[in-house]
Amino acid sequence: MIKKSFIGLVKPRIDYTILTDPDPALIDIPQPGRVTLLLEGNGNGELKKGDLLKTGQLISTAKDIFAISPVTGTVENISGWAGDFGQGYTAVSIDVAKDEEFDEQFSEVVKNISLENAVKYFSNLPGKPSFKKFKDPELDIHTIVVNGMDEDIWMTANQYVVQSRVKAIKSGMEALSKITGVNSIVLVVPESQAAAAAAAGVDVKVVSSQYPSAQPKMILKDLFGKVVPAGRNPENIGYCFMSAEAVASISDAVSTGKAPTKKVLTLINKDGGMIIVTAKIGTPVSDVFKACDINVEEKDRVVYGGPFTGSAIYSMEHPILPDTNALLVQDRENIPLVSDYPCVNCGECVRICPAIIQVHSLARLLEAGQYEEAADNYDLNSCIECGLCSFVCVSKIPIFQYIRLAKYELDRIRLAEAEYV
Ligand code: SF4
Ligand code: SF4
Repeated sequence: MIKKSFIGLVKPRIDYTILTDPDPALIDIPQPGRVTLLLEGNGNGELKKGDLLKTGQLISTAKDIFAISPVTGTVENISGWAGDFGQGYTAVSIDVAKDEEFDEQFSEVVKNISLENAVKYFSNLPGKPSFKKFKDPELDIHTIVVNGMDEDIWMTANQYVVQSRVKAIKSGMEALSKITGVNSIVLVVPESQAAAAAAAGVDVKVVSSQYPSAQPKMILKDLFGKVVPAGRNPENIGYCFMSAEAVASISDAVSTGKAPTKKVLTLINKDGGMIIVTAKIGTPVSDVFKACDINVEEKDRVVYGGPFTGSAIYSMEHPILPDTNALLVQDRENIPLVSDYPCVNCGECVRICPAIIQVHSLARLLEAGQYEEAADNYDLNSCIECGLCSFVCVSKIPIFQYIRLAKYELDRIRLAEAEYV
């Protein structure tokens, strides 16, 4: 199996949008009448239709699957939900009550929160802080990297949180250290925010504005001099990433005893205009568009995330998730095409790939469904999922989608084999 490292990474010349307005317009989406939570896997646990929930109340739908309710209300429905590639989720819909009541148990637990409870109570806070990795005996996490940049171009949600809430990020970093026992915590920001972040007294590193420099594996290579081996993750070499918003949420929960429930995201309109909005986790995207006067018509495309790495959604009832950092609306006349034209060997994808993969050869195997050969011989596992290859492909081959599907299928096969053994 080829185990090519990231040692040869170079920077493509496409820039992230950098937040420069010190006081950008912000729209606070009104509380919806109903929210929907999506929890991994299928099942109800002990949750039933008609259950009353307080804001911050812990729910569980299956073993090791937890969330807190972002609203006070009544469970209206529990049903199966198909995510990307048919991944199974449980959708819990909650009718929102007029008066909000905060859960006392949440306040009690966060006063001196343990790692065990952080895994449960913080798993769906805005920014989706994940603590599971700190409990894994096979991982030795020694450094937490707080990412103040956004994962795709045209997105500014995390930059906005750094700009407006750097003190909360500092106290969130202190809480993180207490919960996890990790003392080395570094905030990564663009150049424009470095001075203010350093003045707040946190350890800061500056990331380039060239896409995809803010991807975790690129940050490790460029700013920490660490190369993540192919097929491995930052945690495997001792680094854990969290978004700036996740860390600010931890601070809010610990300092107020109440669960933070509003997600910050960038709304990118059909004309490329960008607005920062805050919305309750679980708000249907239709409510967000309505509040922002955005008219989504038949055959327009709505994408969770940015133009390179986002995923199209098929229903306006999709909820805002704890890690939905952007909503992108594409006019039906301007939707980037995909095709079944053959590769013309132009080499554009190879030239732009930051992981120096022979992308055209990889794409041919993936089109034919030969995933294991793609992993063994064509560096599938070296791909950092930046989406640049699809963007430049003159034949409009959906290479990035093939790559994501292949990785998902291979993970499934490995999981099934591990269970069988
Ligand atoms: S998504 Fe495409 S361009 Fe980006 S690393 Fe993977 S193969 Fe290379
Ligand atoms: S950019 Fe598209 S057409 Fe050109 S070599 Fe790559 S896969 Fe083939």
